[in-house]
Amino acid sequence: MEPQCPIGSSPSMTAPFSWIRPEPHGIHVVPSDIWVDPSRAVPRALVTHGHADHARGGHGETIATPATLAIMKLRYATSDGAVPVAYGESISLGGGVSATFLPAGHVLGSAQILLEHAGERVIITGDYKRAPDPTCAPFEVTPCDIFITEATFGLPVFTHPPIGEEIGKLLDARTENPDACILVGAYALGKAQRVIAELRAAGHADTIWLHGAMEAMCRLYEEHGVALGDLRLVSDATKDEMRGAIVVAPPSALNDRWSRRLPDPITAMASGWMRVRARARQRGVELPLVISDHADWNELTRTIVQVNPQETWITHGREEALLRWCELSQRRARALALVGYEDEDD
Ligand SMILES: [Zn+2]
Ligand SMILES: [Zn+2]
Repeated sequence: MEPQCPIGSSPSMTAPFSWIRPEPHGIHVVPSDIWVDPSRAVPRALVTHGHADHARGGHGETIATPATLAIMKLRYATSDGAVPVAYGESISLGGGVSATFLPAGHVLGSAQILLEHAGERVIITGDYKRAPDPTCAPFEVTPCDIFITEATFGLPVFTHPPIGEEIGKLLDARTENPDACILVGAYALGKAQRVIAELRAAGHADTIWLHGAMEAMCRLYEEHGVALGDLRLVSDATKDEMRGAIVVAPPSALNDRWSRRLPDPITAMASGWMRVRARARQRGVELPLVISDHADWNELTRTIVQVNPQETWITHGREEALLRWCELSQRRARALALVGYEDEDD
């Protein structure tokens, strides 16, 4: 027999997890009327991280980590209604719901959000990875009932190699081409700083040259304690100064007029999609570097096993294969049809 509750006695009388509702433009926390990573402006939002497909300007109130708020301020020039929450800190959202921000290992400031209501625990990962990254705090495995995960690289074919191997390829190309420069396409938030920090960790101490679009975000990372070494702007250099150098630019700059100022550039690109040769060819990439800030297939499945939720909800990416894997491993799962998440950040 079902346990009986007198009417109105406690929130647990409602159906399990009815307080959290996936809608096409975000995940709605019903009792607090607050949205997680909504794809349109709302009165109150929880934001997992600063990539454009998760963080939008224009919310009345934005609850996020201090670094994510700083990134949003830089990108959208808005800081009204900013509510900073540190990793490990819990805040009450109203309606009997609390939120705790936990590191997601994706980019600076990125968080999983643990929501608790009436003894039920739901984690929304946002984007995440498990591979080490010197520019952000590592993902924390945390038990919960419902685990809402991304699936950007949710196919078994996607395995990201250790980043040291890819950085090694970049440094080898540089040694072999002392009169050229290596132009690395990398997303301005996260990927660029990670590539630079990994180059430093591998002993590359020379000046790294930046496209102007990279500068402000690199400075922001440095202000948050991520050392990136000697960085200078391509616009301040002569062609000869950049021979034998590494240049970092947004992917959109790889094949545009801007790159003509570089000495015989060898085009590289740091992205999880570089696993797919056709994608590298399409972009005219000569040196594909498989470097991703998202979990690969093994990380996704290992994380579900470790978190061991009652149910897994899959947000954006290649949901079908991960859904199938959950079924085959006797795990309850469902795919959510969310809109507006694109790979700014692969
Ligand atoms: Zn992201
Ligand atoms: Zn994303």
